[in-house]
Amino acid sequence: MPDILTLYIAFWVFIIGLCIGSFLNVVILRGLSGESIVFPPSKCPKCQHALKWWHNIPLLSYLILRGKCYFCHEKISPQYFAVELITGILFTAVFFKFGLTINMLLMLVIFSLFVVMTVTDLREKIIFDMHAFILAGAGLIFSLINHNLLNSVLGLLEGILIMEIFASIGYLFVKSRAFGIGDTYIAGALGVIFGWAPLLLVLILSLIVQAVITMPLYLFKLYKSKNFKTLISLVLFLLIAAVYKILSLKTDINIIILYIGILLVVISGLYCVRQVTRNIKSASEAIILPFGPAMFIAAAVFLFLN
Ligand SMILES: [Zn+2]
Repeated sequence: MPDILTLYIAFWVFIIGLCIGSFLNVVILRGLSGESIVFPPSKCPKCQHALKWWHNIPLLSYLILRGKCYFCHEKISPQYFAVELITGILFTAVFFKFGLTINMLLMLVIFSLFVVMTVTDLREKIIFDMHAFILAGAGLIFSLINHNLLNSVLGLLEGILIMEIFASIGYLFVKSRAFGIGDTYIAGALGVIFGWAPLLLVLILSLIVQAVITMPLYLFKLYKSKNFKTLISLVLFLLIAAVYKILSLKTDINIIILYIGILLVVISGLYCVRQVTRNIKSASEAIILPFGPAMFIAAAVFLFLN
């Protein structure tokens, strides 16, 4: 149990996090609309009415106004509330992990960028070069304090190389990149922050995160588009793989049954890949969720568990 002073500081870090989250909402919104971050003062995007000071209190204003504009009653996106709350929680977590140090300050900058880039990517499938460059810059300072320049340069090159190889796989199926250059920038920036060896773990972790989040969405999409052949092939593969996994955990299992199991997993897997790739006509259609957020979640999990 942390002492009372630590809890007191944590409380204020949380409050500051909420306020920064409120600012990040402005950065996200005006980044997408191309407006200046500092001017003009905040206004309702629908009725253009300038907001009163008490409309800008993090979390509380959203609750008091019940998610609606005070003037025109237009619904306010729950994104504002979510970004404020998540930033507050992340700031507090960073404080508990790093204490009041330079590392904490750098991590607050890095996590703020994670939040901004995640929302921008989810909303518009855009990653701004500027965000990625600032992320890499903060990562470079973090790296110089905690490991060394060579490690970061190797991490940068590794991130770019791995992502560009994966992006090129798109040419095999849809005659275009599998995803945009933004994901490559993110992987490069994470390489700068973590160094080359941990970056590999972060990228593998982000594949798992992506699969876990995407799979239910993809199954639902197949169901909605009545693509039952692909849906069944995928469910069948997952079932066979799960049964095989459970069987292989038993020590007294017949070796022949195991080999048949492997064969079934491979056959159903290949059939499934054939079904899925057959239906892909364009790269943008193939991407259900952008990969950037998965990398940020993986990076956060890695940082906090490490
Ligand atoms: Zn309004």
